[in-house]
Amino acid sequence: MSHATFLIPRDALSRIAGAEASGGELRFRHVTADDFYVVTRVEVASGLRLPVDIPKSYQRLAWGDDDLIGQWLRTPERGVNHNHWYLLRRPGASMPYDAFRELVPGARDPGANVGFLITHEPDLPEEHVEAGIPEFAAWFLTRDEVRPAHVAIEPSTLGIQQLDGAWPIQSLASHSALIVGCGSIGSAAANALAAYGVGHLNLVDPDRLLWDNLIRHTLGPEHVGRHKVDGLKTQLGQRWPATTVTPHPLDVVDDAHRIRPMIKDIDIVVCAADGIAPRRVVSHLSRRARKTAILACVLDHGRIGEIIRLRPSPRFGCLLCLRANLAQQGAMDAEADQELDYGTGQVHQPMTATPPDLHLVGTLAAKTAVATLLETHHGDDTQRFPGEHAILGLHPTGDLAAPFDMRQAGDIRWSTLPSPRPHCPTCSAA
Ligand SMILES: [Zn+2]
Repeated sequence: MSHATFLIPRDALSRIAGAEASGGELRFRHVTADDFYVVTRVEVASGLRLPVDIPKSYQRLAWGDDDLIGQWLRTPERGVNHNHWYLLRRPGASMPYDAFRELVPGARDPGANVGFLITHEPDLPEEHVEAGIPEFAAWFLTRDEVRPAHVAIEPSTLGIQQLDGAWPIQSLASHSALIVGCGSIGSAAANALAAYGVGHLNLVDPDRLLWDNLIRHTLGPEHVGRHKVDGLKTQLGQRWPATTVTPHPLDVVDDAHRIRPMIKDIDIVVCAADGIAPRRVVSHLSRRARKTAILACVLDHGRIGEIIRLRPSPRFGCLLCLRANLAQQGAMDAEADQELDYGTGQVHQPMTATPPDLHLVGTLAAKTAVATLLETHHGDDTQRFPGEHAILGLHPTGDLAAPFDMRQAGDIRWSTLPSPRPHCPTCSAA
């Protein structure tokens, strides 16, 4: 059974907790369509009713008129909130009205109506707090009975800070990533990097969000016509405000001279651009700047995914060194596979990958980047990955040559990278 819930914004709690008066009137509204209540005004001194500051992003909380009147009372050391805690655990339980009035003499007589009351106990004993007894409790009153209301309180800490102590948010907040290609995979990677707590994102993509992108992109129809990088700045700003986003509507190949200085200033590159040229440019520029680049794509019409971690280490070669090594083994030409229709008027082959499969690849690329940042800059190997090159089964047919011969969806196969070729123009100067 669903319960009517009272939502109490943080600002309402601050007003109640900070009021000199020991009680007063509340205004609240009933959002009828969703059957919840939200506190909108608090009387902090006789006749002084202050509006509750509710951030605009909580759109639903603004629906309806705040024409309902309730009451709040500070009731120290009476144990009333303990009763709330006890009754709420017993579905259907209530207190007789007279018994409640004895406990809370200041509670207003609801008359023939249903009254609403918030009881505030600011000095709960430590053991009560630990047992889960709330500082703020809410009640429905009639002259017959008093029932505990379900209350949801806006916490003081929201967003990525909620993970403080459980995830290295301070470490990651200090880093910046450059995302090249903000389509279906890149937009998922950007969302994941922000959600992991990476402090700054530079987004590079020259394209606008158009109708046929909507199925796979993280951006919705409200962004159609905008540059993808600008839409993502809006989206991430709303969802992950702790991350700053700088949009660059640039092409990594045509504007390589502008990307090169950017790479110097960032800590890691995630490349989700498709096609031969952008990936080669990222591989080369990153290596020269001695920055790690994570390359993510889908191959074979979206049947498999691929993540390559290019680290500027003498142990590992660049993208061209990997592809040359794979060609020697008789594997498919993965770069060309992304551009089969090149020259036929269609730059990209028709994309048959499903949206979540692309997001899975983007999220894994972001996780690879985060693991690399933690390991490289903080000596934190709790996220250490098993290799540098991953093949993911998404919708595999099993008929490709190794290492792309995935047979099962959900399988991820990691391997290392070959060492640099002698005289490789990208690796040898690094
Ligand atoms: Zn190389």
